[in-house]
Amino acid sequence: MSDPFAIGGEVRLKPGREASVLRRHPWVYRGALAGALPAGTVPVRVLAANGRPLGVALPGGSGGSLALRMVAFGEERWDGAALAARVRAAVELRERLNLDTDACRLVHAEGDSLPGLVVDRYAGTAVCEPYEPAWEPYLDAVGAPLEGAFGITSVLVRPPGQPPRVLRGAMPAAPVVIREGRLRFPVDLVAGQKTGFFLDQRENRRRLGSLARGARVANLFSYSGGFAVAALAGGAVRALNVDASPAALELARAAYRLNAIPVAEGDFIAGDAFRVARELVAAGERFEVVVVDPPAFVKRKAELEGGLRGYKDINLQAMRLLAPEGLLLTCSCSALVGEQEFGQALASAALDAGRALRVLERRGAGPDHPVSVFCREAAHLKAWLCAVD
Ligand code: SAH
Repeated sequence: MSDPFAIGGEVRLKPGREASVLRRHPWVYRGALAGALPAGTVPVRVLAANGRPLGVALPGGSGGSLALRMVAFGEERWDGAALAARVRAAVELRERLNLDTDACRLVHAEGDSLPGLVVDRYAGTAVCEPYEPAWEPYLDAVGAPLEGAFGITSVLVRPPGQPPRVLRGAMPAAPVVIREGRLRFPVDLVAGQKTGFFLDQRENRRRLGSLARGARVANLFSYSGGFAVAALAGGAVRALNVDASPAALELARAAYRLNAIPVAEGDFIAGDAFRVARELVAAGERFEVVVVDPPAFVKRKAELEGGLRGYKDINLQAMRLLAPEGLLLTCSCSALVGEQEFGQALASAALDAGRALRVLERRGAGPDHPVSVFCREAAHLKAWLCAVD
């Protein structure tokens, strides 16, 4: 097998475009390249227009505007020892965090100096999600230091949109059951979304559970029911889950059963959350707590305007569902939607709803999702706890 660390060519940037790389920002866009990228997925040396070496990068998948992700800056090495050291450092950070769970993000891409690579741990199984084909030749080297850490016995690879395959150990029996605090959740590593579970919402699930006593809760975009289970375990009187995916709702029912929560069939609605929320409003249903956690509406810049309309509309419906003095936990996982834009969408929705909305807590992903200060736009999740009067 050829050495995946062997440099396959070099690429020069246009004059001035080296500035962000010198500030250790790992993304280089196609528009910054002065020449063509070498063919294939091999690592390339990146040079400033004047020939100054800037480091080593992996090419981005075809099509997207991201051309390169820097894996070594300046004179840093990109070799097996450097890669293993970064994976080990990422795992050791999680060990120090002392999270009350057996599931967490072990590698958070740019936040762990491994741009384009995610690794999630579900009990004894680690799932690698390489966002770029360029990561494929390195996965054996990523898997080796994972095995044994945190009691991990199996390492899987699940590229976006593909079924998982075994890298080390065996495919675990389905579904894997994980623990968050005193709650248990089933994780479908084969057909579930992303790597199987939304680990980034862990601290927000816990927070919601602490606020839900006596409340009726609407959980819009519920996926496997994480927020509903946390709320019901925290004393909510009812939780209504809405998701477009029947398979997600099946996982949510399984999550209820794992936590000995009775499954009331009417509390799982498969359908479009925009439409279902409108119907609930029209039917006069009201809730003391509403959770809105949609998929990313804005995945590229061209989607910004339409996506912001989506955030406004779903939050408008959520506010109409809220009883007076209600609590709204509203989320956006679009990295391209900043706090400014998200706040504007909420303000516009509150005006239309005729409600006063106050932001109580601006929350995000938990500490197992570190954000490099050199690449702050990688912070994707906004989860704002709001009082709606
Ligand atoms: N809150 C969840 C994660 C939600 S992910 C948790 O904490 O685990 C977003 C979910 O929205 C996915 O489950 C997806 O199936 C669902 N979804 C996408 N579009 C939808 C739509 N238009 N209406 C309802 N659900 C939708």
